[in-house]
Amino acid sequence: MNSYPPYIVIEEQGLRDGLQSEKRFVPTDKKLEIIGVVADAGIKRIQVTSFVNPKLIPQMADAEDVCRGLDWSRDALYSALVLNAKGLERAADAGLRHVAASISASDTHSRKNANASLPEARKRIAEMIKNGKKRGLVIRGELQCVFGCRFEGRIDPNVVFDMIKEQLDLGIDEVALADSTGMANPISIQDISTKVIELSGDKHVFLHLHDTEGKGLANALAAMQIGIAHFDTAFGGTGGCPFIKGASGNISTEDLAFMSEQMGIETGVDVDKIAAISRSLEAYFNKQFSGKIHRVIDREDIQVVR
Ligand code: ZN
Repeated sequence: MNSYPPYIVIEEQGLRDGLQSEKRFVPTDKKLEIIGVVADAGIKRIQVTSFVNPKLIPQMADAEDVCRGLDWSRDALYSALVLNAKGLERAADAGLRHVAASISASDTHSRKNANASLPEARKRIAEMIKNGKKRGLVIRGELQCVFGCRFEGRIDPNVVFDMIKEQLDLGIDEVALADSTGMANPISIQDISTKVIELSGDKHVFLHLHDTEGKGLANALAAMQIGIAHFDTAFGGTGGCPFIKGASGNISTEDLAFMSEQMGIETGVDVDKIAAISRSLEAYFNKQFSGKIHRVIDREDIQVVR
């Protein structure tokens, strides 16, 4: 008999991971409006932007402006993704108190994406964690490509565990494992996460899942079965790393929330409100996102059982 957590925590990453590879710029005001709807929909954690090179990711060029416009009276935790010390400084200067410091667990991906070998990337995250601590930030230590890399294939789990240990020793507050390429399967999710939960003690372990190979929700379900209760998602199943071939689609916020609620697992998420964001962005970008529920619940000819 499987035991599922009574509730899960969802971090909305549509504003960052979802939008980052979209060519058409979403004006800062529209991003802030979306953040407002996400918070109204009951989501308590929102990754609002990333502090990265605007030449490489023009969609995130307004990171400072987005932070300036945040409504801090809301009951929501705002965070941003940072990939190096400079990004971390920018995030702290912009007033954020929470950052996700992220490096890849794959040497080749790291060289291509972050222009750093694995040892260099490890130094980089150590520096980010130390500097972040000095500035009083809450830090989520994040590893990309944990469950597979398009260049290297399987990533040695022992390297992953070693990197997590190192980050925990340096004082990260939360752990995140990213299946950036969508190559995980329910068994590898359970095997690796079980060990990482053990290492992490009472610290939350987040899973960041992509649906590239169609296993996103199956992987989330497998994770819940071993007690993972923290997930990154993106409205509509938007997103994908611009540097990973075919890495389209985070797991959809609405799809995960909808399935969980049907199973009696609380999410606190108003699925209709998030689905409305997805539909409005589909119109804005003139494309269809890979999530499902945002389209289903807008159709009167389909009976939706909750
Ligand atoms: Zn991602």
